[in-house]
Amino acid sequence: MVTTPPLAAEPAFEWRHGFESLGPEFHTPLAPTPLRDPYWVARSDAMARQLGLPAGAWQTPHLLEALAGNRVLPGSRPLASVYSGHQFGVWAGQLGDGRAHLLGEVRTPADDWLELQLKGSGLTPYSRMGDGRAVLRSSIREFLASEAMHALGIPTTRALCITGSDQPVRRETVETAAVVTRVAPTFIRFGHFEHFSANGQVDELRRLTDHVIDHFYPACRAAANPAAALLAAVTQRTAALMADWQAVGFMHGVMNTDNMSILGLTIDYGPFQFMDGFDPAHICNHSDHSGRYAYHRQPQIGYWNLFALAQALMPLIDDQQAALDALEPYKTLFPAALDQRMAAKLGLPQASDASRALVREVLELMARERTDWTIFWRRLSHHVGGAPADTVHDLFVDRAAIDRWLLQYQELLAQSDRALAAGLMLKTNPAIVLRNHMAEEVIARAKLKDFQPIQDLLALLETPFDEQPAHPRWADWTGFPPDWASHIQISCSS
Ligand code: AMP
Ligand code: MG
Repeated sequence: MVTTPPLAAEPAFEWRHGFESLGPEFHTPLAPTPLRDPYWVARSDAMARQLGLPAGAWQTPHLLEALAGNRVLPGSRPLASVYSGHQFGVWAGQLGDGRAHLLGEVRTPADDWLELQLKGSGLTPYSRMGDGRAVLRSSIREFLASEAMHALGIPTTRALCITGSDQPVRRETVETAAVVTRVAPTFIRFGHFEHFSANGQVDELRRLTDHVIDHFYPACRAAANPAAALLAAVTQRTAALMADWQAVGFMHGVMNTDNMSILGLTIDYGPFQFMDGFDPAHICNHSDHSGRYAYHRQPQIGYWNLFALAQALMPLIDDQQAALDALEPYKTLFPAALDQRMAAKLGLPQASDASRALVREVLELMARERTDWTIFWRRLSHHVGGAPADTVHDLFVDRAAIDRWLLQYQELLAQSDRALAAGLMLKTNPAIVLRNHMAEEVIARAKLKDFQPIQDLLALLETPFDEQPAHPRWADWTGFPPDWASHIQISCSS
């Protein structure tokens, strides 16, 4: 008997279309625009495994064509969704997926349902002045950042892969097109709620709210006021997310309400940046002239955005006090979550008045000296683990100040187990984060069609708490950013 080899594996996803079933007011059914002669640029094997993709999937032209937008996967029903939002504090009206196509949800081997979405996949009715495309540069940044944040334990949308093409895309200069396949339980944003609320579509607002509660916040169903309970739950998640961002030194750059996930995920990576030298007022988005989204304003903006969500939900909450009661905990949840994370950065299982004072003092010193955020915390971790104090001390000009601080810190540490503290710190303070210059370096290689550096960097970012000196760029990428890094200008143009 002749046995034929199995056909190169077509991903046999089981599909569901929960978002589509909300009704035609929520979206426009629409296939992606084909991308000329696509090729693979980057892939996340970890994400592929989680989705249950067969091992050989990357080798199949089917998958490449499907994820470039040239072929609709059997069972998928692509659509672009409509939402609105506040941009830079101003009501912007209707926005929507201007360059993204939701393919539907697929069932994972762990029995979760995850939405697949293509970004950069062509014009939609919501493209406004845009061309529906994303450039290679910004796609690489989004892909790497999504997977890096996930590995840091920070809630985020994920990325499966990037497909690219030589098709030109005009920005400040002519670049080339790419499509990122993004993955999340849902891509619903605060802006979806704002959209139906602003248009007085209360039935749709209710349908959306019910959908989000039933699928993602089932405990809210039993509450006396489910919409208020949802607001309270989103408030909790957003407070936790803001604490995660602040503690790791992540700046989003465009915290418009249409870029706020209803699940409290980091979403829509644009001009984001990880802090280099600590400057609380740092603005990473070159287009953010007023510094609305500067590092130290992010927690406040998180609250502002929740307030916008509360206003959008008012027709359902129907009780101003209930809405205010749902938001109010942010003012204690966020500081408590941040205290907890900062205590962990110091190797302490719990925050205390003493840990808060230490954090305050060292942040003031770091801000004065623009001390590198990631390097300081990592070196401090190694010092607690036994490395000489010089490695920390040498980071500062004001040696007397850091020595005084280290002395106080030692006193506090003396009350706990030092090995445990070092262990906690080395799992809390990453050795490596995706700094702008690292992304720039692999982007420059990718523009020359050398995509391997993206995979090699991804491998480092997937285990950010491990020392990986065998990688040829390890010393540079875990060291101080080069001078040219401070001149990198990242704007909304992507
Ligand atoms: P962003 O700032 O990337 O979150 O995008 C804000 C809005 O502009 C969203 O509605 C996007 O879909 C849309 N948008 C951004 N870039 C493009 C583009 N090149 N083509 C079409 N729409 C875009
Ligand atoms: Mg966006």
